[in-house]
Amino acid sequence: MEKPCYQKVLLKLSGEALMGEQEFGISSDVINSYAMQIKEIVDLGVQVSIVIGGGNIFRGLSGAEQGVDRVTGDHMGMLATVINSLALQNAMEKIGLATRVQTAIEMPKVAEPFIKRKAQRHLEKGRVVIFGAGTGNPYFTTDTAAALRAIEMNTDVVIKATKVDGVYDKDPVKYADAVKYETVTYTEVLNKDLKVMDATAISLCRENKLPIVVFNSLVPGNLKKVILGEKIGTTVVAE
Ligand code: UDP
Repeated sequence: MEKPCYQKVLLKLSGEALMGEQEFGISSDVINSYAMQIKEIVDLGVQVSIVIGGGNIFRGLSGAEQGVDRVTGDHMGMLATVINSLALQNAMEKIGLATRVQTAIEMPKVAEPFIKRKAQRHLEKGRVVIFGAGTGNPYFTTDTAAALRAIEMNTDVVIKATKVDGVYDKDPVKYADAVKYETVTYTEVLNKDLKVMDATAISLCRENKLPIVVFNSLVPGNLKKVILGEKIGTTVVAE
């Protein structure tokens, strides 16, 4: 049997990527592909926690540019992540995975509230736990929520799904000579402002020595490769 390199992982999925080819909302192709990829790693015996963004529906910052009060906009953004969490839960349950959604903003008719010990128990029973509503606080991002939940749940790694195949020294779309890092340190990410996760999330990971793997989730099978230790993507580590 294939042996995973990580036993407990926190997977951060982008809300924006959920749109696929659409301009807004949730592409069933993308969400079903995510569900299949997650099933592949659950089948390896890995405990999987998930944080999903909300950028395909609403972002507080964009709302503020259009005159929405920032805190209200951030609440709207956090609620958007709950919509995505429920959509992902539905896609995973359709293919036979046991799942739970826990939210940082309580809405007991929709999902459980975030309770660490309860989440731990779900994971031990082989359920996938999706953490919705970010950190529950405005002015944060779901990247920070991912780092926070990973630390609280004591996972081995944060796996950040993106549309590119890793972290580059400059934008690979604009510069043909951009070089991809196999590994990079938290400090380099912060000092060079490399696009991995926002600075709050990176600092949390650095303080708690939590490695981050960035990989391209649009290629089916990639998540399993990361879990099996194949050198795809970029790993962010301590100096
Ligand atoms: N958000 C927030 N606090 C959090 C997490 C998210 O206020 O702890 C809001 C914020 O407005 C953000 C939106 O939710 O823009 C959606 O999250 P994010 O932009 O991180 O999603 P992604 O970029 O992954 O799609």
